Amino acid sequence: MYALLLAGLAVVLAGVAPRVMARLVAFRRAPRPALVAWQAVSLSAVLAALFAAPAALGYLDNTTYGWIACSSQDDCATTLWWMENRRWIVLGTAAALALLVLGRLLLSGHRIGTRLRAARARHRELVDVLAEPDDGGRADGIRILDHATPTAYCLPGRRSRVVLTQGALAALPTDELEAVLAHERAHLRGRHDLLIEYFTVLHHSVPGPVRSPAALREVRLLVEALADRAAVRSSGPVPTARALLTLAQGQAPEASLGVAGEGTTAARMRLLAQPALAAPVVVLMYLYAGAVVVLPLLLLWLAWR
Ligand SMILES: [Zn+2]
Repeated sequence: MYALLLAGLAVVLAGVAPRVMARLVAFRRAPRPALVAWQAVSLSAVLAALFAAPAALGYLDNTTYGWIACSSQDDCATTLWWMENRRWIVLGTAAALALLVLGRLLLSGHRIGTRLRAARARHRELVDVLAEPDDGGRADGIRILDHATPTAYCLPGRRSRVVLTQGALAALPTDELEAVLAHERAHLRGRHDLLIEYFTVLHHSVPGPVRSPAALREVRLLVEALADRAAVRSSGPVPTARALLTLAQGQAPEASLGVAGEGTTAARMRLLAQPALAAPVVVLMYLYAGAVVVLPLLLLWLAWR
């Protein structure tokens, strides 16, 4: 019973909840708790899928047989077979589900992680060869590319880089440039690359029909909105909005985190003009996140009780 509940919960949390949450655009006004809620839902989906097999173990101890009513010999044989083998079928299904989830997670994590890190390392080497270190006295790790298109992005990792083009330096006044740098540093400091990698791995781990591209897009937007908040704290909303507009035409390369990302500029500019969510709503979002993570643990405990 609890094994089936956990398997059902995994399907709901992996397939239904992300689709519903991606439509709750008000969550964008509190990107940090929203990202915590997204992580909670995804973690809970994985836990529920992995716990289904251990929960089914409890089912093996159930030796109670009921009366069987048979209208014909064939029906009776089938029912008897089911009564005798049902526990192994439930356990086998749950174990297969857990192994499938674990296998897909590990494989997807390995593939995506390896590809991203290789792409980032290649791009960092290229930037170090082609770009000039910043001479504006701001900080180490800033590289200036000789290119006319205004673009800014960061390459996360141990030897992180913030890359700006000459076009960006020419187009952005000081306060807007500071907003851009604050945005990129927020990505690097918060290791937003790991967050996006985590969700990308999960996205590719779930079967195609359950997968929700809207959920991954929403998480990416929330990460950008979170970095925009750092830019607003540094330079204010107007310079941040202006910088977003200036950089909207530029594109960040793969495996980096840019200021202007994937057609999200309009949505992010709207967010800059909106007030943050009220504190009670934020508290509710954290409570929701906590409850979602506790649910599979509670079901496993009930199964073993
Ligand atoms: Zn960004």
